[in-house]
Order: sequence, then C-alpha cells, then structure tokens
Amino acid sequence: MFADMEEKKPISPVQRPTVPLVADIPERITLRLPPDQANDPVQLDRRLADRLKLPADALPSHRILRSSIDARRGRPCYEITVALGPAAAEPPAPPPLPLLPRDAKPVIVVGAGPAGYFAALELIAHGLRPVILERGPDVTARRYAIAGLYRSGVVNPEANYCFGEGGAGAYSDGKLYTRSTKRGDVGKVLQRLVDHGADPRIRVEAHPHIGSNRLPRIVARLRQTILDAGGQVHFDCRVTGLRQRGGGVGGVVSAEGEQWPAEAVILATGHSARDVYGALLAQGVQLVPKPLAIGVRIEHPQALIDQIQYRCPERPAGLPPATYRVKTRVDGRGVYSFCMCPGGHVIPASTASGELVLNGMSMAGRSGALANAGLVVEVGLADLSPAADRDPLALLKFQHDIEQAAFAAGGRELKAPAQRMTDFVAGRPSPTLPASSYRPGLVSWPVNRLLPPPVALRLQAAMVTLGRQMKGFFTEAALVLAVESRTSAPVCILRDRETLMAPGFDGLYPCGEGAGYAGGIVSAAVDGQNVALRIARRLGKV
Ligand SMILES: Cc1cc2nc3c(=O)[nH]c(=O)nc-3n(C[C@H](O)[C@H](O)[C@H](O)COP(=O)(O)OP(=O)(O)OC[C@H]3O[C@@H](n4cnc5c(N)ncnc54)[C@H](O)[C@@H]3O)c2cc1C
Repeated sequence: MFADMEEKKPISPVQRPTVPLVADIPERITLRLPPDQANDPVQLDRRLADRLKLPADALPSHRILRSSIDARRGRPCYEITVALGPAAAEPPAPPPLPLLPRDAKPVIVVGAGPAGYFAALELIAHGLRPVILERGPDVTARRYAIAGLYRSGVVNPEANYCFGEGGAGAYSDGKLYTRSTKRGDVGKVLQRLVDHGADPRIRVEAHPHIGSNRLPRIVARLRQTILDAGGQVHFDCRVTGLRQRGGGVGGVVSAEGEQWPAEAVILATGHSARDVYGALLAQGVQLVPKPLAIGVRIEHPQALIDQIQYRCPERPAGLPPATYRVKTRVDGRGVYSFCMCPGGHVIPASTASGELVLNGMSMAGRSGALANAGLVVEVGLADLSPAADRDPLALLKFQHDIEQAAFAAGGRELKAPAQRMTDFVAGRPSPTLPASSYRPGLVSWPVNRLLPPPVALRLQAAMVTLGRQMKGFFTEAALVLAVESRTSAPVCILRDRETLMAPGFDGLYPCGEGAGYAGGIVSAAVDGQNVALRIARRLGKV
C-alpha cells in the first residue's frame, strides 16, 4: 500500500512520543559503550536513542565521527562520537580523477611509496601526467623477493621491505595515525585509501591500521587508477642523477643512462635510498644532517600487553589486541616507543648486504602471539665527533656503522642479536631466550654492547622507568633485539618553505620521509599531495 493512502489514526496526546525538536538535538554526542554494544550497530542505535530520549525508530540521521578505546579507568570501553541531523551529512566525495589529455605535461615522480603515489594522484587531479620511476618491482613481484630474503638470507638491494612498489609502507602494520593533521588534507588520503579497498572504518578510528595482508592490494589498485587516468609507472627503473638545465632541473637520468625530461621532478625516494643522497650531494643539492632516533626492537607476549593495558587477566571480548605508546626522558634525551605492532612480527628491513635493520609489521587481524615495538633514543650531532657536523651524511654513517655491527653479530643468515630485557638492563648475556616472531632466528648477544653507550645506557634506564609506569613491561619474558635504526631519515634535503623547491634547483621537489618532511605513511602521502599542488600552481594549473 502507498504510504499516503494509509489511513492515519490520530495519535492521542498521551500516546504521542515526546520527540525533541530538531533544534534540541545536539550536533554531536559522545557515548561510552562496552565493546559488545559498540560493535553492534543495533545496540549502538538503541543507546543513542536512549541518550536522546527518543524512540529507536525516531532517531535522526547520524554518522560515527570517531571511535576510540578508553582503558584508563574502570572496565575498558569504547568512546564513540556520533554526528546527528544535518551535521551527519557525509563530506562531499572528491571529484573523480580526469582522463589526462594527450598533451598533458609530464612530471617525474621518483619513488612509488606513499609520497610518490599520492603526489601522482594529485598531479592527475590538476591535469598533469605523473611519470613514476621506481627502482623496485611491482608490489606482487616484491613479495617473492621478500620470500627469497627469508630463504637465502641475501638482501636484494632493489626489492626488499623498503624498496619496491608501495615503498616502506607496503609490508608494514599499516598504521595510519598521524600527528601532522595541520600539514595537509589527511581526510583526502584516508578517503582515497577507502576508495581503493581499505576498510571505511579507518576514517573514524582514532588509531586506524590496515595490515600487511591488505596493503599490497590497495597499492596495486592505486597504481591502476594512475594508469587508467593516463599516468605512467616504470618499475625496475633506478634514478641515478638529475638532468640540470640552466638554473634548474630538467628531469632525471636512470641507471641505464636513459633520460627522462620534465619541468618538475618530485623526489620521493624514502629514508633508505642512501645512494640518492650521495648523488644529490655530488650534484650540489643542499643536504643537512637530521637528528634521528636509534635503539632496539622489543618483543613481549601480546597477552601480557593486553593484561597491562586492559587491566584484566584476559583481553575482554570485542577489544582488539592492545597497543601501547610509551615515552620518558633520560639524561636530557627523549626515549620512546616507535611503530608498535600488536600481534605482529619483527622483520629484517635491511636494504643492502652487510647490514642488519629491524622493523615490525602486522596483518589486519593482529592475531600473532607477540607484540613488538621499537624503543629508541634521540640521537644528534652531539653524539659524533666535533668534525662530523660539517658532513651532511655524518648521522647516516653513524646509523650505518651500528647496522653493520648488528649484522656482524648476527651473521650472514640475518639472525638478530638478542637479550632478555632484564639481562640487557643488567648488562649480562642471556643463557636462554624467549620465543620470538623474528623468522631468521636469534643469536644470544650482549646487545647493550652493540649500541653506543649514550644510547644503551639511556635505554637501560628507560626500561626500568617504563616498567614502573606500565607494571609488567620490564620483565624477563621480554626480548630486546638489535637494531632499530631506520626510524626516520638521517638527512634533510633542504627546500624552500613557500615553493617547496630545493634552493638553486628550480623544478626539484624533495618530498616525503627521505627528504625529511614526513614520518609515516599518512604524513608522507600528505606531503606528496602538498608538493603536487605546489607544482600545479607553478605550472599554471590552479
Ligand atoms: C617495516 C616497516 C613498517 C612500517 N610501519 C609503518 C606503519 O605502520 N605506519 C606508518 O605510518 N609508517 C610505517 N612505516 C614507515 C612508512 O612506511 C614510511 O614513513 C613511508 O613509507 C614513507 O613514505 P615515502 O613515500 O616518503 O618513502 P618510501 O615509502 O620509503 O618510498 C620510497 C620509494 O622510492 C623508491 N626509490 C628509492 N630510491 C630510488 C631511486 N633511486 N630510483 C627510483 N626509485 C627509488 C623505493 O623503492 C620506494 O618504493 C614502516 C616502515 C617500515 C620499513
């Protein structure tokens, strides 16, 4: 029956529900809900209706804006902020990318990591053709190279956990949290990830993550979007230098001597492309050393982290494996956790033979038995000899020396030097080691002696302090593995604040983490977008 043909019985004043006027309905409401209610849309609506004193079927349109877990007091619960009424309207979707005309101007993008790919999408949005040059293979072939690393212990210098399509973020935990929300359009980055297959909840979760099993598919779809619009992606194409033209840059040269001309070049090569820093220095680009953080990767049983963080003997149903973020200061320096991966794996993230670099990753479900995180100490030029501050690559060399020492200790099979946390603090070797997720295996080693004393001593003090802040964190059940050294770029490629171009190199746009302007997947993507927009303005497209 058509609704307006229905016979409407008058509702007596007694029956009529007291529906608040639209004007009385707040624009947003925050609910504190136990996990079972927060994860069930029907129950969530019921609680929302109760809170608004409305019948469930009279709820105004609403949309979840934010979802976070509060485990600070009482039983852990979700805090869910809901927008109501007109405020619940979805923000307008970004316009679809145009099909580039045949004569669209090319812009060279070096590196197919988050900075490079999000720069490419933004270039297309402004009618410019991205020509992406990537030293490694596509994201699927890269997986086989990584499998080979586990089989042989030999690092492929072009295809590993840092190099290849998707960049350093492709096989990671895929955490998308960033503090750089003021630097650019984070919402656009998240929306693009959702449009390419990420779970839409990443737009509302306080600490969203994607997971290593889902990221590669998203990366491949981003590439397809770029190709469909008329962009180009060239794999196995390592850039070795800049084409200089007058006072500026007129493109790049690749390893086979091929010339790639363009009026603008985005250099988004990540923090591990050490050869790129050398080539830039040789061509006169201004680089300065950038303080970084160095330390160890630590591994705890995930069940222990759950107990500590949720303050329950077992993780309550409906809550994800717990994360943590710790920081303290020791002797004037920050010591902090980095890239925590709940239920994850410790992995060898080396990019060349003869060095050992550790990092962490997790799958979407974070269901592994162990939790790992970097625990690192701020390091700067003060840690080097006085003469070193004239060398732009001084901190890079410092970083590399530690990685070589870790490799020498672990051996050719890329075993990780390891110690129990309690033994690391006491400065004694560990006769036995607890279980680890690190597949190449462990070698019992005095890790405290592998690290420079200013780093090792601060880590030792910090572990005890953090054990007081987080009861149970400092335990013999935890492992300390060496070495966590690639937390950020040890070099900054200078660029003008306004134009974002390298001084004296018109047309060269240092971008993303490798240039020193990002520190994670989302911030690198945002920097890529910003740089592309600046190029579009310079080339008269905005
Ligand atoms: C194992 C691991 C886990 C991580 N987990 C997270 C996480 O959970 N969340 C998070 O936010 N961040 C994480 N990070 C950091 C994050 O991945 C980086 O901050 C981010 O990828 C930086 O993006 P980018 O585009 O600037 O550089 P990159 O991602 O490093 O990309 C640079 C690209 O340039 C290519 N390249 C380098 N040199 C050349 C050359 N000469 N010619 C052509 N191409 C070149 C490389 O192959 C690479 O594809 C993780 C990193 C690693 C290694």
